[in-house]
Amino acid sequence: MIAINKKHDFCSISGLQRNIDLSKHSSWRCGGKANYFFQPENKNKLCEFIKVYGRDYPILWLGLGSNILFRDAGVDSVVVRTAGNLSSFSWERSDLLYAQCGTSCAKIAREAARSNFGELAFLAGIPGTLGGALKMNAGAIGSEIWSFVHKVEVVNVDGEIRHLSASEYRPYYRGIAGPELQFLGAWLRLSQKIPDALEKIRSVLAARSVSQPTGEFTCGSVFKNPIGHYAGELIERCDLKGFRLGDVAVSEKHANFFINHGEASSRDIESLIELVKAKVRSRFGVKLEEEVQILGEEKEYE
Ligand SMILES: Cc1cc2nc3c(=O)[nH]c(=O)nc-3n(C[C@H](O)[C@H](O)[C@H](O)COP(=O)(O)OP(=O)(O)OC[C@H]3O[C@@H](n4cnc5c(N)ncnc54)[C@H](O)[C@@H]3O)c2cc1C
Repeated sequence: MIAINKKHDFCSISGLQRNIDLSKHSSWRCGGKANYFFQPENKNKLCEFIKVYGRDYPILWLGLGSNILFRDAGVDSVVVRTAGNLSSFSWERSDLLYAQCGTSCAKIAREAARSNFGELAFLAGIPGTLGGALKMNAGAIGSEIWSFVHKVEVVNVDGEIRHLSASEYRPYYRGIAGPELQFLGAWLRLSQKIPDALEKIRSVLAARSVSQPTGEFTCGSVFKNPIGHYAGELIERCDLKGFRLGDVAVSEKHANFFINHGEASSRDIESLIELVKAKVRSRFGVKLEEEVQILGEEKEYE
């Protein structure tokens, strides 16, 4: 188990908490505890924290937990939550929107739309933060976040901030490769003005509510779409729509969404993931790969 070294001035770090229930921080509403949990008040406090602890302790970045399955045995790291406090944004130029990593995707979509930029409307239905979206290269309806990134603000393990051009990064389907992957914020460059950008957001949200379960405990798409296929369609063709294991079930509406009906453990969800993968593999010879990030310990750390 990691332990905060006493040589550091532990008490001076306001906002550092112990044994925090991570189920409240995952949209699947399950998972164990974080050994240490830090919700910085602002960017400077976060960088100070990383400067002291960044080299000695594993840090797990958390946005809104809309794409993470925390294992039941918990997370033996310092979980740093950015949503909430690190959520300011401003227009640096009339076509360049800067947002901090904890800003919600929905807020960014609306802010862009208020200036008549409709091209970020796809973000409106993605229930995460900008930081999570950058890490996952979040996308929908044919658009991906990294197509709009001009520059990112990153922090290294020594707590030093750098601004790096998007050209230093290699985005791929639901992921990103590049020099530093701890995002404090990003500048998004926009170019296409339309008169009804807010209306576009409304229609994006309406379309999602027809095709995907909303208002349920899910983490969005569990699996990436394999080349040439849709994961949801393969699962559906295995007759798994509605299939239930304990309190977790494959959604009746969209087979790539698994719903926690209230009491599912992370183990239950992992078991369903394994079962679905095995069925799809044996029926179609296709190996599904998780989009959702499964994080944490296999066994209790205390
Ligand atoms: C109902 C529903 C619908 C969804 N629809 C879509 C969709 O259409 N398209 C899509 O792409 N996704 C979708 N998702 C998945 C999810 O919302 C996105 O992946 C989102 O970008 C995750 O953001 P988050 O803040 O919740 O990240 P988290 O779940 O908190 O974290 C995800 C990953 O990002 C890392 N991370 C978080 N913040 C940072 C940071 N500042 N710097 C570095 N790494 C960081 C985490 O460590 C983790 O590895 C959906 C999820 C749900 C529940």
